[in-house]
Order: sequence, then structure tokens, then C-alpha cells
Amino acid sequence: MRFFLFCALALAATAQPRHGVRPSRMVIKNATVVEGNGTPAQSPVDIVVENGLIAGVGRVQPQASDVVLDAKGKYVIPGMVNMHGHLHDERGGAPMDFNYVMRLWLACGITTVRDVGSPLTKTLQTREKSAKGEIAAPRLFVYPMLGRVRDAAAARRRVREVKAAGADGLKIVGAWRDTLAATAEEARALDLPIAIHIGVEEANANHAIAAGVRTIEHWYGIPDAALKEGVQNFPSNYNYMNEADRFRFAGRLWREADPKLLAGVLDRMVAAKVAWNPTLDIYEASRDLQRAQTQPQFKDYLHPVLEDFFRPNLENHGSYFVNWSSTDETFWKENYRHWFRAVRDFASRGGLVTMGDDAGYIYQMYGYGFIRNLELHQEAGFHSIKIIEQATLNGARALGQESKFGRVRAGWSADLVVVNGNPLEDFKTLYPGRGIEWTIKAGIPYSNTELMREVKAIVDNAREKK
Ligand SMILES: [Zn+2]
Repeated sequence: MRFFLFCALALAATAQPRHGVRPSRMVIKNATVVEGNGTPAQSPVDIVVENGLIAGVGRVQPQASDVVLDAKGKYVIPGMVNMHGHLHDERGGAPMDFNYVMRLWLACGITTVRDVGSPLTKTLQTREKSAKGEIAAPRLFVYPMLGRVRDAAAARRRVREVKAAGADGLKIVGAWRDTLAATAEEARALDLPIAIHIGVEEANANHAIAAGVRTIEHWYGIPDAALKEGVQNFPSNYNYMNEADRFRFAGRLWREADPKLLAGVLDRMVAAKVAWNPTLDIYEASRDLQRAQTQPQFKDYLHPVLEDFFRPNLENHGSYFVNWSSTDETFWKENYRHWFRAVRDFASRGGLVTMGDDAGYIYQMYGYGFIRNLELHQEAGFHSIKIIEQATLNGARALGQESKFGRVRAGWSADLVVVNGNPLEDFKTLYPGRGIEWTIKAGIPYSNTELMREVKAIVDNAREKK
């Protein structure tokens, strides 16, 4: 009897977190914490998690009934905010289990995703299930895609439909100046923030800023608004609809931007509080195709449907690598150098820089592409402490949620990533199977090992069927 009691107490004192099960109270002991607000790491710190929230940050003696996560020698950062995700359930028309996408995001430490275009009804249902903790998924903000509409009246109608469906915001792709202005005005009245993907078109970044968008995605519209001639120096046989043309010459756009005009565009963005979500990972194949095609995680984790979709084929968006040359790569490497500098200039002027993976295109896998962004922001010259802030709290800021999640602070949602390694030294520790041990979303711990085992099972199953 005495022996039994001793065992029970010992077990209770060392109750471990369980994959996908929200404990009533959990204490993360002896962590090294990066808060996510741009301040350096602190250690040792204990974090109390209760009812999905961070109840306290400091030094705590766990109670016998607490679940205890020993984080001695480990880093804890806020759950990351992916500001440009697509919750795909197919690629090129072939179905793909979207649990694959959600588990990869969680395994990469992503606890919030702003979805900017996916099957609307399904994604809204997933948002609710995720909010209730019924499924393993990041918290979702749903910004359905608004493609080109014929006129202002149609634009307004479409905004009202999207609002009635329950969207959190709006993603604009392709707009004329008049339809953009009408869309933005209607969206403002209905309190729907706008993420805009600006292609090479009539409305550039200056028009988007004036219309009052919340974030500019990717980049093209920004240098495009800084061209002295008002148009890039395209060859006469250029066809924008041909993706090989489009992406080849996009690689020669930044070099044509006039530095003074560009500074003006960046200043206007800062003044209007327009955040920049550059998604640096998603064009990287353009500067180094072989690197993109031979990423080590493809062996075990690349879904065969995604694999097919990535193959060069002008029918599939982003699979434009037809006769891709060293000359193209060289232009793109230079393009990236200008782009890096512009993002840094924007941030140093006070602009809000966020991060998003845009995965499911151009050899980028969900989550992995997001972590690659942290590396690329480092290459751009940002300090790793600021990069963690860009990947966490800045996303929450751009979503207007900075008092709810995105930092390790009492009262904020318990969105936390426990890393066996120092991400401030090496962002590669954040890739699945490397350093992340637990991703905690709203107090629910998810084991990296379990998540990746599930991902592998989905991939193996799909490969067998093929
Ligand atoms: Zn996208």
C-alpha cells in the first residue's frame, strides 16, 4: 500500500504533456524564453498555462496535479503566425488530404494562419473546429480571394457576399484602379481588412496604399510603383499570361526601380500603416532551381500530388521552369539583393514586416517554406531577435490581434513552441525533426514526432495508392 501511494505521487508529480490533449494546468519549467516583442532571451523562466492562456511567466513551484514540461536547456518562442497560407485540399485538380497541410504547419511551430485563398466553406468550417480544439490545426483567419470583377458594383456585391459568409478579411488579386477603390471602400464599411497581391497591372502599390489596404503581399507592385517610365522595359514579344515570361522578367524588375521613387513608396506605406508580407521563400527557386528541387524533406514528406504539381508545366501556377537558365538565376539573385534592401529600408523607416509561406507552389512545402523565410530574413540582414518578432507578434499586429497572441506574456493565448536548440543562433533548428519538440496552440500541446509520423502516414498512403 505504501509502495502504491509512493508511485502514484511520483507519477502525479511528473505528469507529461500528451499529444493533442489540453491539460487543465501545465507548467513549462526552466525555459529560455524569447518573448516575441523584439527583446532578447531570458532564462530560467517558468510558464504557467491554464485554460488555453498563459496564466503566468516567472518562477513557479508546480502543484502535484500539474502537467510539467521540463524545458531546461530549451528555448520557448511564441507560436508563429503564417500570414500567407493556402489550406489546399487539391493541387492541379488532384485531391490532397488537407490534414497534411495543417499538420505540417503545426510541426513547423505555426499556430496561426491567415488563409488567403482556399475552398471557402471548408476553410470556414475548419476555422470553427480549430477554434473549439476539435482538430489539430492552427487558428485560422480566413481571407477569401476576390479575383477580377467587371465593375465597381460587382466588386461591392462580392465584398458583401464574402462578409455574409463569415470571412475575416479579403484577399485581392488583380484589380483595376476603379474596382480596387470600390472594393476597399465597401470592405472598410464592413470592417474587412484587405491583403492585396499586386501583379503588374493598372493599380500598383501607390493605388493600394491610397485605397487603404492592410497588407501588401509579395512584392511586384512596390518596385512597379517606382518605375520612371511607368512601365518595365519589357521585350516587344512579352506575354504576361505566359508564366515563363512573367517570372523571367519579374526577375529583372527590382533593378529598374528608381531609388528615390522607391523611398517615396515605402514612406507612404509606413505612413498609411500598410504592412509588407514579402513571402521571400516562394520565389527562391528562381534564383537556385536545383536547391529547390532537391530539398531533403521531399524524400519522406513530399505528397505525390504536390510532387506532380511542382513539375515544370505552364498549366500549373508557379511551375514556370521551362528553359530556366543561369542567366535567369543570375538576374533573380540580383533581384533578391534589391528586394532584401527594400524590406530592410521599409523596416528601418518603421514599417511592419510580417512573414508568410505561400506554400503549395514553386517547390515550397507547407511550414518548411515558412521556416525558410526566417533564414531569408537573416540573409536580408535582420537580427535574429527581430526575425522572431516578424514571425510572431508582427503577424498578430497586422491581424489586429496583438493583445491576444503572438508573444510569451501572461494573459496572451498559450501559443508556444518548445525548441531543443537555440533558434536565435540557427533557424534550421525549427525544421521538423530537428529542434521543435512541442507546438502548443491555445494550451493544446502537439508533439512534433507524432505530427510528422501522421504526415508520413498520409504521404505513404497516397504514394501507395498511386
Ligand atoms: Zn498565395
